[in-house]
Amino acid sequence: MSEQEVMLAKLTRREFREALERGEFQTAIIPTGSNEQHLEHLAMEHDIISATYVAQEAAKRLYPRVIVSVPMAIGISEHHMVHKGTMTAKPGSWLAVLFDAVESLVRHGVKNVLILNGHGGNEAPMYGIIRQWQLYFGSTAPEANVQFHSYWNLSRAEAEPHCKGRVPGHAQEYETAFALALFPENVRHEAMREQEDKQPLDATAEQGHVLAEAAVSKTAEFLEEMMAGGHREVQRHVLSAEIPQKR
Ligand SMILES: [Zn+2]
Repeated sequence: MSEQEVMLAKLTRREFREALERGEFQTAIIPTGSNEQHLEHLAMEHDIISATYVAQEAAKRLYPRVIVSVPMAIGISEHHMVHKGTMTAKPGSWLAVLFDAVESLVRHGVKNVLILNGHGGNEAPMYGIIRQWQLYFGSTAPEANVQFHSYWNLSRAEAEPHCKGRVPGHAQEYETAFALALFPENVRHEAMREQEDKQPLDATAEQGHVLAEAAVSKTAEFLEEMMAGGHREVQRHVLSAEIPQKR
């Protein structure tokens, strides 16, 4: 185990139990993403490894208060199934497993759960149901505060001045910059130059470090506020026009 381990799956039951008894790890992040086509040049794991990276780095900054649960690697990606290799879950089955993951953590005594998302297709089903989950977990014993955000929405104001294109877009400038900075082995440069969509060519590793730092620091800030008792609002039913737009 590394010195400041924040991944639940890397701990033994004794280590996690004793940490909880000391009052640590009362807050958890569940990273959600996808395994889906990311144009010709970017590896299919991008959404889940980027969300997990942001979760892990934010948790390290808040060590030992925040634990990162097992990531939900498959997302809701029917709209990408035309491309070979994409894996998709039906919204109902995906939401059922995610709900059970939240409930597992809450039954162990975790008081705050942030579902930190890295895939646009997961947003609409979550915005449709999060109010019900917040009411449920706010009324059970033990009760818990459950929130959902895509990491780019937490850091949109910081990210947009650094991008020519949309934040986050799909496999374009934002995500490609992120990968160039953090997972350079996942970017195929020749394919990026050859493909029809030229937007990824605007991305640089330097820009990716700035975008990643913004995502990590704003996520850590959000968690701090949750732990201080903030962000306890139960979301109203969200109308599609009000959903933070994936621009
Ligand atoms: Zn993506």
